[in-house]
Amino acid sequence: MNGEALERIPCDYAAGCPVAKTKGGCGEDTHHRFWPASIYKTLIDVIFRELSSNKVEICRRLHEEIHDGDPPEKPSRKFMVRAINRTNQKRRKMMRATAEQRR
Ligand SMILES: [Zn+2]
Repeated sequence: MNGEALERIPCDYAAGCPVAKTKGGCGEDTHHRFWPASIYKTLIDVIFRELSSNKVEICRRLHEEIHDGDPPEKPSRKFMVRAINRTNQKRRKMMRATAEQRR
């Protein structure tokens, strides 16, 4: 579990989202900023891809538009390890602050 909320890009119904008018309407699902999943295979790859900061709750139409384009270049292992460590440091800081508040 990680407590950070995902960034959210909701459906803009007012802008006339074409998916909004279909059966079931438009909705939001989770987009992984680093894709396709098939090239993220190692444990580091997977943890990095699943970081809250690397995911976004996004309108289905916009999500499809993103996947019609080219995927981002896969970052180096070093870059991914740094991002994971930064997230862990932030999480530890938050946990420490919460523990102090409870005292
Ligand atoms: Zn939409």
